[in-house]
Amino acid sequence: MSAAIGIALLGATGSIGETAQRVVARHPERFRFAALTAHGNREGLEAAASRWKPAFVGLVDDGDTGAPAGWCRGRECLVQAATHPDARIVLNAVVGAAGLEATIAAVGAGKRVALANKESLVMGGALVRRAARAGGGEVIPVDSEHSALLQCLAGRIGGAGEGLLPVAGVRRFVITASGGPFRSWDTERIRGATLADALKHPTWSMGRKITVDSASLANKALEVIEAHLLFGVPYDRIEVVVHPQSIVHSMVEFEDGSVIAQMGVPSMELPVLYALGYPDRVEDAGVPRFDPVATSPLTFEAVRHDAFPTLGLGIAAGRKGGAAPAVFNAANEAAVARFLEGSLPFSGIPAAIGMTLDRLSDRSGDDLPALLSADAEARALVKEYR
Ligand code: NAD
Ligand code: MG
Repeated sequence: MSAAIGIALLGATGSIGETAQRVVARHPERFRFAALTAHGNREGLEAAASRWKPAFVGLVDDGDTGAPAGWCRGRECLVQAATHPDARIVLNAVVGAAGLEATIAAVGAGKRVALANKESLVMGGALVRRAARAGGGEVIPVDSEHSALLQCLAGRIGGAGEGLLPVAGVRRFVITASGGPFRSWDTERIRGATLADALKHPTWSMGRKITVDSASLANKALEVIEAHLLFGVPYDRIEVVVHPQSIVHSMVEFEDGSVIAQMGVPSMELPVLYALGYPDRVEDAGVPRFDPVATSPLTFEAVRHDAFPTLGLGIAAGRKGGAAPAVFNAANEAAVARFLEGSLPFSGIPAAIGMTLDRLSDRSGDDLPALLSADAEARALVKEYR
C-alpha cells in the first residue's frame, strides 16, 4: 500500500481539477487520487480515472447513460467522494453552490478540505465552521489571494478568534485584484460589454463562471467574504486594491505597521500544492521562477466602485450576514448563467443582484434548509428578471 496521501478531487475535469492533476503527477510519492468526480464531462473523467485508478469515480449528471459500470451516478456522489475512507484531503474544485454539501460533509468527517470552491464557504460559512468543530476537519484555501494571506500569516494561525483559521494581531488585509478585462474601460462601455469581451482575462486562464466574476469583480466580493470567514478578520479591516500584474497575491499589515506580501507568477499550481502540503512547503520546480526585473514595474490602483457596483453589493451582503451572502452568491450565479447564455447584458448582472438582495437579504441563514431555500428563491427571481 502506498504511503502517499489519498485525495478526493471534486471537479476533476475543470480548470482547477486539471491543475491539481498536473501538480499531483509531479509528487507521486506524496499524493495520489483516491476519488474523482465530474459533472457532465464523461470522457474527461474516464481519462482521469484510467490514469489515476482511484477507488471511487462519480459522475454527477446522471442524464448520461454511457458511464462505465461501477461508477457512482448522481448528486450524492459528491458527498460520497468527500467522505470516502481512502481520502484524507478533499480538493473541492466544483464551481458554485453545488459544492456546499460536500464541503460540510468533508469537514464533518474530519478531512482537510483544500477549498477552491469559494461559493460553498460564502453561502454556508457558519455551517462549515460548525461542522469543522464537530468533526475535527479543517479548511485550507486554494484561492490564490487566501493562500497568500495564509502564507503571510504562517505560524500565527490558531487561538480563540473567530473564523476557520483564526488569527490575532492583524491590522489589515489588502487583497489584490487584477481588475479584469474592463479595468481601464469607462463605465458606459463596461455596461455594454459582450461575452467575448468578458472572457478575455488579462492574467489568469480559468473556468467561464469565475472569468465573468473577475470581469464584474463579483469574484473579489466573494473573496472578501471568504477572507472574513476563513481568518475572522472584520470587514472594515479588509481592503481591495487593483494590481494589474497579478504578481502580489495579497498582503497582511500587522499591528506594528509592517506589511508582508506573497508574490509569484500567476499560476494556480502553487496555491494547490501549498494547500495539499500545508503547513509544509513541498519542493517543486514546476512553476516558472519569479523574475523581479522581468515583472517590473508592479503597480497598484484604487478600485473604481462606480464602474464595478457588484463588488460593493457583495461586501454589503457579507457585512449583513445571515442568508445575505448566500443570496448574493445565488443571484450572481444565476445572473452569470443568463449572461453566458445571452439573455442578460453585462450591466444586468449587478442590477439583478441588487434587486434580489433588496427582496431577500433579510432571510434567515440559520440552517441548511433555510440557506437552500434562500438560494432557490434568489435564483428564481433572477430568472424572471427583465
Ligand atoms: P470549471 O468550470 O473549469 O470546472 C468546474 C468543475 O466542477 C468541472 O469539473 C465540472 O464538471 C464540475 N461541476 C460543475 N458543476 C457541477 C455541479 N453542479 N455538481 C458537481 N460538479 C460540478 O471551474 P474552475 O475554474 O476550475 O473553478 C472551480 C472553483 O475554483 C470555482 O469555485 C472557482 O471560483 C474556484 N477558483 C478557480 C480558479 C481558477 O484558476 N480556475 C482560481 C481560484 C478559485
Ligand atoms: Mg482568487
